[in-house]
This record gives sequence, C-alpha cells and structure tokens, in this order.
Amino acid sequence: MDRGAQPLTAAPWVALDAELDAWRAAGRTATLWWRDDDAIEPSPELDRLLALGVGRAPVALAVIPEPTGVDLARRLATAPFARVLQHGWRHRNHRPPGERSAEYAADRPLDVMTAELARGRDKLAELFGARFLPVMVPPWNRIDDAVIATLPGLGLRALSVFGPRTPGPLAMVNTHADPIAWRADRGFVGDARALSDVVDHLAARRAGRVDPDEPTGLLTHHLGHDDALWRFLDALLARTAAHPAARWLDPKDVFA
Ligand SMILES: [Zn+2]
Repeated sequence: MDRGAQPLTAAPWVALDAELDAWRAAGRTATLWWRDDDAIEPSPELDRLLALGVGRAPVALAVIPEPTGVDLARRLATAPFARVLQHGWRHRNHRPPGERSAEYAADRPLDVMTAELARGRDKLAELFGARFLPVMVPPWNRIDDAVIATLPGLGLRALSVFGPRTPGPLAMVNTHADPIAWRADRGFVGDARALSDVVDHLAARRAGRVDPDEPTGLLTHHLGHDDALWRFLDALLARTAAHPAARWLDPKDVFA
C-alpha cells in the first residue's frame, strides 16, 4: 500500500497510529468524516480531491448555492461517494472591515437571510437530488443563534461548523482539523500540526473530555491546497484506511 511521502517512523504519524491503537485496545472505532468547502464548479483540483477519496473516504462537499449550477451536478454524477451540503448562499462577507467575516451574523434582517437560505436549499435539492443532505455549513464557520433557530423551518435539519460540538437546538457535527495556515501564508500547516489536531480530538473523545460520539472531522478547501497538503491528504487517507480501528463515515450516516 502507498503510505504517502512520510516515513512510517516519523513522530507525528507514529502518534496517530498510537492513538488508533488505543481505540482498538478499547474495542472502539475511531470514526472520522471529511468536509471540503467552497465547491462551485468542476476543476482539476476537484477532480484531484474526488480521486483521493475513491475507495477510502466519502467526502461531503459544502457547495456555494448561488454561483453553482448544472456543470457541478454533471461532474458529481460520476462520483457516487460524494455528498453535497449547503455552504450559505453567496459566501459574501457582510461584516465591517476589521471584524471577523460572516455571511449570517445578526447584522441583516432575519427575513432577508432566511429567504436567501431557502433559495439556496431549493436550488441544491433540485440540482443534486438525493446527493444533497439538508445541512447548513455557514461560511467562515460562523452563524448567529437567531439564524440557527430558523433552519429547521427551512428544512435544514443540521449544522456543521468548527470545533468540538456543544449541546444546542439543532443536530450538529463539526470539523476539528483544518490543515491550511489561513493567518500565515495559506500554505500547509505541516504534518505535525495537522496530525496533532486529529489526534488531540480523538484523544479527547476517548477520555470523554468532548462528546465521544462526534466523529472527528477533517476540513479541506480543494481550491487552496499546495503540493505538500495534497501529499499529506493522500498519506492520511492511506494510513487511516490501513488501520483496523479507523473508519471514515459516509456523510449520509453522519447526518442521519
Ligand atoms: Zn467557505
């Protein structure tokens, strides 16, 4: 099996194996899931992402509804393991300069925001059919509580943001490892940091410090990967596929 570019003996990979071994020793399955954000249309990068997952991990694509269209639907027709989630409406930031970006903060009339989200939901359902799971992924992983409260009425039955989930009014399954250095050079954060985010969440679940039933989520952005990150993803998928205690879940089951 292709184990990726990193040697098996590199410390961060050994730490991943050790954590997965601990899950196995406890008779438990280390559940994982994969969310990739910002898809709009087919691209060589999307092809590369979908090829990486074949036979190893189904991927949930958070698709931006307003600019997407039939081209993406046609591309995904030949990717049976790919699911679609709703990534806001236009991925437009409405916050003032200097504040953290958000499309669905409490700074616009609620009826305007819910009308956008309803259009987005209808469009994705029509384009992607059963492949679309009615799950809201707010751009920049930020959304106001008042908007969350409207989601069930819009037919959006779950939410996915970043960080260990906390009890709330809506079903939630988040992501926990984001291997892009957004505040630095937007390159790959490196094996050590990327793997420690995965291992730390797995260890916290195993110890009961966070919800043990929330699968550990990998967050990627296929349009922004450098070569090192592509190599890391291939290695991570190979390493986890080779370990009996690790299992990548179908997003359909994650949000069932
Ligand atoms: Zn996004």
